[in-house]
Amino acid sequence: MLVGPELIRAINKQRVLRLVRSAGAMSRADLAERTGLTRPTVSAVVAELLEEGWVEEIGTGESSGGRPPILLRFNPRARWVIGAELGAGHVRAVLADLAGNVFDRVKQRVESHDPLVEVGQLERAMKHLLAQVPKKGPPIPVAGIGIGITGVIDTEEGIWRYSPHYKVRDLPVAQMLQERLLLPVWLENDARAMAWGERSFGAAKGVDNLAFIRVGVGLGAGIIIDGRLYGGAYQGAGEIGHIMVKERGLRCRCGSDGCLETVGSAVAIARRAVQRMAQEETLIRDLCGGDPSQVIATTVIEAADAGDRVAQEILAEAGRYLGIGIGSMINLLNPAMVIIGGGTSRAGDHLIEPLRQAALERTLPALREKVKIVRTALGEDAGPLGGAALVIEELFRAPTLK
Ligand SMILES: [Zn+2]
Repeated sequence: MLVGPELIRAINKQRVLRLVRSAGAMSRADLAERTGLTRPTVSAVVAELLEEGWVEEIGTGESSGGRPPILLRFNPRARWVIGAELGAGHVRAVLADLAGNVFDRVKQRVESHDPLVEVGQLERAMKHLLAQVPKKGPPIPVAGIGIGITGVIDTEEGIWRYSPHYKVRDLPVAQMLQERLLLPVWLENDARAMAWGERSFGAAKGVDNLAFIRVGVGLGAGIIIDGRLYGGAYQGAGEIGHIMVKERGLRCRCGSDGCLETVGSAVAIARRAVQRMAQEETLIRDLCGGDPSQVIATTVIEAADAGDRVAQEILAEAGRYLGIGIGSMINLLNPAMVIIGGGTSRAGDHLIEPLRQAALERTLPALREKVKIVRTALGEDAGPLGGAALVIEELFRAPTLK
């Protein structure tokens, strides 16, 4: 732990770096003025930051009489970060720089429901990306690994507490991967990591109050309030899939009935398609070769894109139910933006237009006028880039630079 002058030096360094990172190109004189630090202190800090590669000199600015000042800029290639997502049925991972530019990707299907197998799969994906580092640019360190995982995560301890999909209980994933990969690892719930990814690099840059809705096999919401991820008292916030939207509805896997997940998830869309293809003429039947067990939400999206009316109605129905749940959430939280992501958001306006309409119908006029409901800007990268963004957040929060 740092104490006394060393700690002060580290804090000054962090202040200067954060300012250069957020405010763009600046001279040493600008930095002194904006931070209130003395010129010699700024010069010493900048020399250190240049030496370590965190900032770079990019030529000269306007002169105010004397010698034109040298401008400094944050260097997004100062460190690599690795971000990953373990969802229900897939692993995705990216190698990125500090500005969220992706240099390599891994995408794998997950067949197992065994959490230990899945941690092994994550480890292999990370090792693949780490092996790419020397080929992709300057020989700079990897700052760490951030992973969004489906289920309830203890972010403080890095423990995967619970997931209905993987039947996991209290698995210390961060510690396991740290020991195997020798890098710091942070965990977060997947929808929350996606929300953070969109705020850092996607649709919600600079937005302090927002919700990201992950529509896939299950439903989840990542909520950001006043610029911070909201986890609730016990990291269980955001379970929008279990809001009741249909009285006397289907039994949900949570034990209740009529939950949003039973009518608005990818599983619900596939179930509805199987029901309707038994009764009506639809392209869905051709796409699945007449085999109902082959129908997934993607089949329905494909049919809807090809103009199939039944498929479009199924997606619109799911969208309306999602809108009912999201409208309630908007009334409760007053977000500036709601981002629809996850695999099923590929349905685009077939799903999102009816969703938007149903949500806004149920939102109080004062809140309705301002809230934006948009599709994910990062698409499949939202999860892994969210993981990367968590590492970057830690990097610039800590009082000492790693
Ligand atoms: Zn439920």
